[in-house]
Amino acid sequence: MKPTNFEFARATSLAEAATILRQAAGTARVVAGGQSLGPMLNLRLVQPSILVDITAIPELTHVEEHADGVVVGACVTISDIEDGRVRVEELPILASVAGGVAYRAVRNRGTIGGSICHADPAGDWLPTLCALAAECIVTDGRRARRVPIDQFVTGAFEVMLEPGELLQAIRIPRPSRAARCGYYKVCRKAGEFALASGAVLLDGERDRFRAAIGATEGRPVVIADARMILGGIPRPGAAVRLDESAANELLGRAGLTTPARLHITALTRAAASAMAK
Ligand SMILES: Cc1cc2nc3c(=O)[nH]c(=O)nc-3n(C[C@H](O)[C@H](O)[C@H](O)COP(=O)(O)OP(=O)(O)OC[C@H]3O[C@@H](n4cnc5c(N)ncnc54)[C@H](O)[C@@H]3O)c2cc1C
Repeated sequence: MKPTNFEFARATSLAEAATILRQAAGTARVVAGGQSLGPMLNLRLVQPSILVDITAIPELTHVEEHADGVVVGACVTISDIEDGRVRVEELPILASVAGGVAYRAVRNRGTIGGSICHADPAGDWLPTLCALAAECIVTDGRRARRVPIDQFVTGAFEVMLEPGELLQAIRIPRPSRAARCGYYKVCRKAGEFALASGAVLLDGERDRFRAAIGATEGRPVVIADARMILGGIPRPGAAVRLDESAANELLGRAGLTTPARLHITALTRAAASAMAK
């Protein structure tokens, strides 16, 4: 199958992109790397009146490092992250997660913002960024607002963007040097979409002990205090023992059939990989 006909515009500023989106009143679609949108167009799952290419908008490819975090433009590619363009000493997890997304050709074009806005529950970035307490910077071309990523994503393939809005950037708080982060996905072959995934951030200095479980029926399951299911803070090198009944309760509430062994394995391995470093 091929896409239905659509107009095409290449915006060069946030204001221009937002104006086109607003004028189309919900019938326009943003395109970044096209890695998810392309197949959706071909299958006619989306039939936009106009596609707005946002990759030439300078703000969207910026990476800014601040004392308290890093701001990554929505159109920064996954290869850029893999190759260390987003180089934050305390966040080596970003490059390692990037390296496990699909294969290089997809990573060369696919963007972090596209991945977040597509909101595929099986994707790698949502659970990772939920564990890191990232925020989405959303703009309507005039004003920007920050939304915690676990609120930005409202369900499977659903985000809270209004017509006329786009994702400008993702802000990731800088963990302390002593922080430990881990991500693990269960998949049949390296680089495939996750059947289950888990991410953890254990940062005693910042009093942040977060975990997220991905590849659920909807948005990631976020555990604001991971000590609850890890039985405290695991000791480096010691075996991680997850409270499976607490984890199953959370996963059952999120609509998964329990016991959710794959998801529990993914989170246990994510915590173990964090503590092994
Ligand atoms: C073969 C294959 C294997 C893959 N394997 C994995 C995997 O293992 N793990 C994984 O995580 N992902 C995987 N992916 C998904 C891939 O990572 C995403 O397709 C890609 O990152 C999406 O980014 P994009 O720039 O191509 O988005 P696009 O396809 O351009 O856009 C995706 C959606 O987001 C919207 N959008 C894009 N940017 C913005 C923005 N700034 N503001 C508002 N809306 C926006 C678009 O309108 C569209 O709805 C795979 C994809 C393919 C094709």
